[in-house]
This record gives sequence, structure tokens and C-alpha cells, in this order.
Amino acid sequence: MSRRLAIRAGRTAVGVGGAIGLGALCIAAVTALLAPYIFAELSPWLAPHAIVDPAPARLARGWMAGDYFAVEALGAGTWAIGEPRYYQQNYAYLIVGQTRAVLFDSGSGTRDIRPVVSALTRLPVTVMVSHLHFDHLGGIGPFGELAMIDLPATRADVSDGRFTPGRYEYLGFVDGRAPPSPRVVRWLAPGATIDLGGRTLTVLATPGHTPTSAALFDPAAHRLFIGDFIYPTTLYAFLPGASLAAYQATARRLLATLPPDTVLWTAHCCRTGGGVAAPWLGMNDLRALDVALTRVRAGQARATGFYPRRYPVNDQMTLAAGFPWNNH
Ligand SMILES: [Zn+2]
Repeated sequence: MSRRLAIRAGRTAVGVGGAIGLGALCIAAVTALLAPYIFAELSPWLAPHAIVDPAPARLARGWMAGDYFAVEALGAGTWAIGEPRYYQQNYAYLIVGQTRAVLFDSGSGTRDIRPVVSALTRLPVTVMVSHLHFDHLGGIGPFGELAMIDLPATRADVSDGRFTPGRYEYLGFVDGRAPPSPRVVRWLAPGATIDLGGRTLTVLATPGHTPTSAALFDPAAHRLFIGDFIYPTTLYAFLPGASLAAYQATARRLLATLPPDTVLWTAHCCRTGGGVAAPWLGMNDLRALDVALTRVRAGQARATGFYPRRYPVNDQMTLAAGFPWNNH
């Protein structure tokens, strides 16, 4: 090879190498930017799991209704209906008045929750969901209809009178589940009330875990049914649509407006140790979350793990967030 040819070949090699390097850099940048979506898409392979634990549930409180659902009486016409053998250990809440009842979350849909509800009340039941993730909306099929928080993003999911959540709103592909298409029988604006007869619930918008998350406040009993916004284990603030700024704004609004003795009934078990029971937290836990969010958003908290990054909150909770540029 002549010297000139050798130089040209060297330059070509450097050019190809540089192009490959630049391409790899671009792929890494796009992956980092889209991490919430890519993580969700890969999660069936990253974290394979059994949907239902074959072992019987070990309950700390309440009783089993059949071999799958757990029921716990919370007093004042309120029941928690849990799925202790489901891998996410979801809890829905049945809130009963004198003339109507609300089922807050429809169950995961792994089994039909409706017979459990029918055994607890003969009153007409309206289903409302805390948010659109598959483990909360997946059980809506047998009911066929639901009440929905009235937001532009939820209105946008209606077509031909049917509500169908988007791919990254529902996330059912994680467990191979297609989204349902129920009818919306009532739109509930943030601040609207639900009259159950002798008992009134207030609808609150609680964005953070998802943009369209909702909670129900029972002002007479000082109870807040809050879905996935907060619960005793790892909070998910890294999935598509999650926002740390919204999380903190919601936490501060709830801290400023709710009575300090409010009990937060949440949607995922479990406290560490002991058996399975309806999961609850207090306003002090919400305050701890606010403090943790301040530190995380300021870059002052130390994380463990690569993605998601886990930050300590208190002895009940950790907060899982994306990279600093995800989930603002
Ligand atoms: Zn969720």
C-alpha cells in the first residue's frame, strides 16, 4: 500500500469510527430522553413475574371472599377489597351511602370483582378509578361503565361514546392486556361532589403518579382514598406521564387543605412485615413525601439504582424516579 493510500484508509477508518461513535451517542441520548417509555416497553422482559401467587394469602386483617379477594370492613359503610395474591396487591374501596355506593378502582381484572361488591351492597354502584393504569381500570369490563374525572386529557380518550385509555395511560401491555372501552356515565370535575345519600364525597385532582389521577375525600370521616399517589412501599414517579413537580404541588395542596388527622387509604399493599391488609398512611407520611421531593428536585438526595433511581422518603416509603431530565 502506498503511503498516500494508507493515509486515505486511515482517514476513512477514523470517519467510520467517528460516525459509529456519533450514532451510539445519539441512540444513548434518545434512550435517556425516552427512558420512561422504553422502560415500560421493556418491563415484561426486565421483570418477568407470576400474575397470581399460587400460595394462599396470609391476611393481617379482614377475611377472604373465595380464594382470591380479601375484604376488610373499615367502618362507616366502607370496605376495602384487596387482591392479596395478585403480584401488585391492589386494593379497591367500596364506599356506601343510604341510596348509592361508589367503588373506587375496579380491581385489576385478574378476577371479576363484581360478585364481591354485590355481596356487600344491594345499592346501585358507580365505579370510579383513581387513575388509568391497568391494575386499577382493568376490572371495569363486567360493569361496562364508569364515572370519570373531567379533564381535557380524559375527554380526549372518548370516541363513539366509549372511553379507551391510551397505550401509555393504561400500560396493559406490561401484562399482555388490551385496554377496555367502557362508557362514561358521569363526568366529575375536580371539586365536584358525589351524593351517596347521607354521605357526600369530594372529587380531587391529584396529578403526580399520572396526569389524570383522582382522589375521593370523605369529609365526615376524614378519609382520603388516594390511589397510587402515595402508599406504603415504593412510589412510582418514573412511568410515562409521571411528574415530580405535579407530585409536589399535589402533596402541598393536600397538606394545606385536608384536616391533619386525615387517614390516606391507598391502593397497594403492604407495610413491611406481618400479613396483607388494606394499606393506609397518615398526613405525616405526605409531609415526608413533600420533604423528599424538595431534596430530589434540588438534586440533593442520593439515589440507589440506575433506572429507576430510588430515593428514601421515610421508613414506609421510597420514591422511584427517572433520570433528572425525565418526569419533571
Ligand atoms: Zn398506577
